[in-house]
Amino acid sequence: MGEVREVRVSKYIFVTGGVLSGLGKGITASSIGLLLKSRGLTVTAIKIDPYLNCDAGTMNPYQHGEVFVLDDGTEVDMDLGSYERFLDIDLTKDHNITTGKIYKSVIEKERRGDYLGATVQIIPHITDEIKSSIKRVAERTKADVVIVEVGGTVGDIESMPFLEALRQMHQELGDDHCVFVHTTLVPVVSVVGEQKTKPTQHSVKELRAIGIQPDVIIGRSTAPLAEGIRKKIALFCDVPPEAVISAPDVPSIYQVPLLFEEQGLSDLLLRRLKLEASRKDLSEWQRFVEAVLHPHERIKIAIVGKYTMLRDSYVSYVEALTHAGAALGAGVEIVWIEAEEFSESQMEGVDGLIVPVGFGHRGAEGKIRAIRYARTQGVPFLGICYGFQLAVIEFARAVLGLETANSAEFGPTEHPVIDLMPEQKSLTEKGATMRLGAQPVRIERGTLAYKLYGTEEISERHRHRYEVNPRYIRDLEAAGLKFSGKSLDGRRMEILELPGHPFFIASQFHPEFKSRPTQPRPLFLGLVQACLARRKSLVWG
Ligand code: GLN
Repeated sequence: MGEVREVRVSKYIFVTGGVLSGLGKGITASSIGLLLKSRGLTVTAIKIDPYLNCDAGTMNPYQHGEVFVLDDGTEVDMDLGSYERFLDIDLTKDHNITTGKIYKSVIEKERRGDYLGATVQIIPHITDEIKSSIKRVAERTKADVVIVEVGGTVGDIESMPFLEALRQMHQELGDDHCVFVHTTLVPVVSVVGEQKTKPTQHSVKELRAIGIQPDVIIGRSTAPLAEGIRKKIALFCDVPPEAVISAPDVPSIYQVPLLFEEQGLSDLLLRRLKLEASRKDLSEWQRFVEAVLHPHERIKIAIVGKYTMLRDSYVSYVEALTHAGAALGAGVEIVWIEAEEFSESQMEGVDGLIVPVGFGHRGAEGKIRAIRYARTQGVPFLGICYGFQLAVIEFARAVLGLETANSAEFGPTEHPVIDLMPEQKSLTEKGATMRLGAQPVRIERGTLAYKLYGTEEISERHRHRYEVNPRYIRDLEAAGLKFSGKSLDGRRMEILELPGHPFFIASQFHPEFKSRPTQPRPLFLGLVQACLARRKSLVWG
């Protein structure tokens, strides 16, 4: 008897945005994914970024928010962080499509002679490349549903080829296989608080001009959409009223899936895509959201950073702290401190300190002062990447007595306790050339790191060019700094800690990228726990 092979065809949900950016398309896409997953379907997600950069690695977090890093080392848009957190999946480079990547690939094909004889054009060559990049993800993951979020706003010149490609996919695959979800803004302008539908009408008109009719409209607003407004949007945009979903501001982004589900969104999508699903289990998520919204205790953790003006630059830290807090019944309030302005008085009433990722010299000295305060005052401290490197510098200066200790990143120095990794020295290109992605780390038994992770070998994501200079390791350890985690060959320092301090730990890697709502990452859990303990000891003496 021949083998019977089940032919699975993925269904697609395309998420677009209208009126303006920053409406939470990423959270919308993630929430839809979570709902479908709760119905027993396998779900994956793709982010399309219509900019010309090949990846987000060379982009300033001021403009686009945090650069998120995947296991395979790809540097991507922060929305992929939301997908990983909401869907509890690990994504790869295929899940972030940019204009840069698409054009690079088409131009390479043209040079190779793949299109021999043809005039290479946006339609069909660019659009074909886009479609095959999307379909490749469907084939590789075999997901029941592939969610494709298009960055930017409908009407932007940059996103035109992508929307055209999606229009073609809908034409080829049909209604049962493609659903368009359009996220728009429903503002309130008058003093009487009336919600306005005109911007939504216009952005849907814009979509239709491209040949796309949305099936679902997500109306972002400060308050829930009034019934009359929902009906009006339905009428003007040609969708049934139940397909107009209200997305008001909520205290936690993790409430959004529950809010959508109350309005019947998963049933609507399943019907529309002719998908069979029975199970409906959001109970674990509900418990997590309860814990986020109703903590038993509150703590304050300071993040001393450079881009504190833009919270999006540190979004994974905020989420990792939320996850760790929820697991311990604690609400974590973040106190943002601008590194250059750091003074000890800002630490008053603060329970713990994080010194996060960073590049360049600006802000380094302020962060070092913050670390010194935490080290000498017994304040729980977690340093990450740059924060790890600065903790080494602070220790070398204050304890080893190497007053000029510094990082080679900041220029020539007498004691480069942090130095460029040898393999970095010959590199000339900046894109995707750091030490990136998941790397194994060996943890020494009997250390704080071991207590937190509970295992000798872990895997965490990296993104750096500099490291602890091997020449100084012996002296640093002899002076009391413990390197409790190292690369498998023992050459690279990965975790440091300070025995005798209530909680002083730092990692060369980025644990924030692997934190998930119901699986907080050990270093964050440890920090929150230490802050709670400190608060108790201060209250009770
Ligand atoms: N700038 C430092 C390096 O390149 C730290 C990087 C980071 O914090 N991600 O090593």
